[in-house]
Amino acid sequence: MREYNSRVMDSIAQRELLEFDSTLVNGDPRAVPIEEMIELHYGIILQYRNLSKKGHILGITVFEDSIIPVYDDESKRYEPIVAKAGTILVDQRLLASHCYNRLRFTLAHELAHYILHSEYYLKTQSLASKMSSHSDMKREKEADALGASILMPQGRIKVAMKRFGNQLERKELIYQMASIFNVSIQAMEIRLQRLGL
Ligand SMILES: [Zn+2]
Repeated sequence: MREYNSRVMDSIAQRELLEFDSTLVNGDPRAVPIEEMIELHYGIILQYRNLSKKGHILGITVFEDSIIPVYDDESKRYEPIVAKAGTILVDQRLLASHCYNRLRFTLAHELAHYILHSEYYLKTQSLASKMSSHSDMKREKEADALGASILMPQGRIKVAMKRFGNQLERKELIYQMASIFNVSIQAMEIRLQRLGL
């Protein structure tokens, strides 16, 4: 099984971003348009549904044509839907405006599964596991790490940090950085820590 350290994740993120829009790697630091990247660059279908009754499943990446139960608000029960290979299903409750950062991180996380784990999920024998299931901690952590590297590209983070110099207190700096890249304060805090910044 492949091992991905953080340096490898950053170089995968850089490669993918370069192919989509090189200015995300060498231009002004800015938020990565993750939804556009998923739909236009990879041709992935994004669908928003209730993935569970209570909202504990945020996203599902579908690697092979599948039938997936989603919760129907009207009938108050799970109904099967057909999802084609190359679909990312996202819980529609994340479309609420106060969930915007969470939505973006979920999209990046699912895209990371798509980039890293297609082969793995297609090779596994059981049909049920031909999508990311959130039961597999190793792959979940990998998707979080690559997702963070995509939304907060290492090089652009460093450029943005340099521009602020030493003028800001740490808390304010993290807040400003989070708003440049359109991520949560917590996500930015973790990212800066991991990069040793
Ligand atoms: Zn996942």
